Amino acid sequence: MSKTKSGKSKQGSSHGENTRLVHLGRDPDVYFGLANLPVGRVSTIMYPSLQAYENPNHKFRYGRTGNPTSEAFEMAMAELEGGYNAITASSGLAAITTSILAFVKTGDHILVCDSIYPPTRQFCDDTLARMGVEVEYYDPLIGKGIGKLIRRNTALIYMESPGSATFEVQDVPAIVLEAKKKGVTTMIDNSWSGGLIFKPINHGVNVSVQSITKYVGGHSDVSLGIAIADSEKTYKTLKRGALNLGTCAAPDELWLALRGLRTMAVRMKQNAQNAMKIAQWLEKRPEIKRVYYPPLKSDPNYKLWKRDFSGANGLIAILLKEAPKKAVYDFVNGLKLFPIGSSWGGYESLLQPQYLEKFRSAVPWTEKGACLRFQIGLEDPEDLIADLEKGFERFRKASR
Ligand SMILES: *Cc1c(COP(=O)(O)O)cnc(C)c1O
Repeated sequence: MSKTKSGKSKQGSSHGENTRLVHLGRDPDVYFGLANLPVGRVSTIMYPSLQAYENPNHKFRYGRTGNPTSEAFEMAMAELEGGYNAITASSGLAAITTSILAFVKTGDHILVCDSIYPPTRQFCDDTLARMGVEVEYYDPLIGKGIGKLIRRNTALIYMESPGSATFEVQDVPAIVLEAKKKGVTTMIDNSWSGGLIFKPINHGVNVSVQSITKYVGGHSDVSLGIAIADSEKTYKTLKRGALNLGTCAAPDELWLALRGLRTMAVRMKQNAQNAMKIAQWLEKRPEIKRVYYPPLKSDPNYKLWKRDFSGANGLIAILLKEAPKKAVYDFVNGLKLFPIGSSWGGYESLLQPQYLEKFRSAVPWTEKGACLRFQIGLEDPEDLIADLEKGFERFRKASR
């Protein structure tokens, strides 16, 4: 495990994770005892003398290039994930695109998992393709078979585990082993875990990216992304990429993310507990062909999830049996506690339809039934189940 740039946090990284989540990225002694770091809105940073300006070790130069609030959050997340340091961006997608661009050039080949977050796929197929970077999608369950796909010009393996919508858990240690044999950089979208219940850097991954918008933010009011580097060398490449592209994040968002971090562990635990109740109930529904939730023993990803993850979250997907479109509309539109919305990780339940036939190529999507993803929130699960139960009644009625 690599060492964080700041060394150990003041409270000592020997403490348990819940203790660290309370203390990471804040130091009341520095700000008159204030429990929380004040939000530092900043563009201009002023110098007392020309000598100070010319001093290359001057800590902060300009708001965009680094400031007290960005440093606090970046170091907190780097410590949480066992990395060296991090860069932040105005969204998860901006952190992803900045990170990929920092490591690839024209003529390179990159391997990207097929169950990738669709906007990341769009970036690969559009921007990277225009730049002459060849993108090859691989079966997320490939494991050590990835070795056969690595070419002389493979610059990057980009994973996402569990994958978007269908939650394939990748064999990250096996993929990293193959990558290391051939000197290929590895990157993973770790948004599902919030950096809490899976630690890719401990498994040898070079860059862990996250949509902070999701579980760290946790309240559906933050847009923020992060990319955490495993080492000083990786960090330098990432930071140069961020500086060249003007990638940065707003202090208000960073501050809200620091606040979200304090309660993430308890929120996630409750989301997962509620989700498990609902997933087990959904499994028995005759209207459903399959429930996607790795912590379910019946999920084909259960074994790897159990091996590598220390917890779960509130994301579930279902594949409805094939039915007339009206049945799906009636099911979804009548739900009272599942508004339709993108995103997840907030305190409230949400539903988002998935159109996977458009976003899968290595493992084409051939299912005919509707695929729906649920974020299970912090409501009483009995209320959510009652709402879904009525939904299935409408679904059955319209299917007849
Ligand atoms: C939402 C999401 C992102 C993008 O994050 P934004 O903050 O919305 O840009 C990236 N990866 C995954 C897996 C996501 O679900």
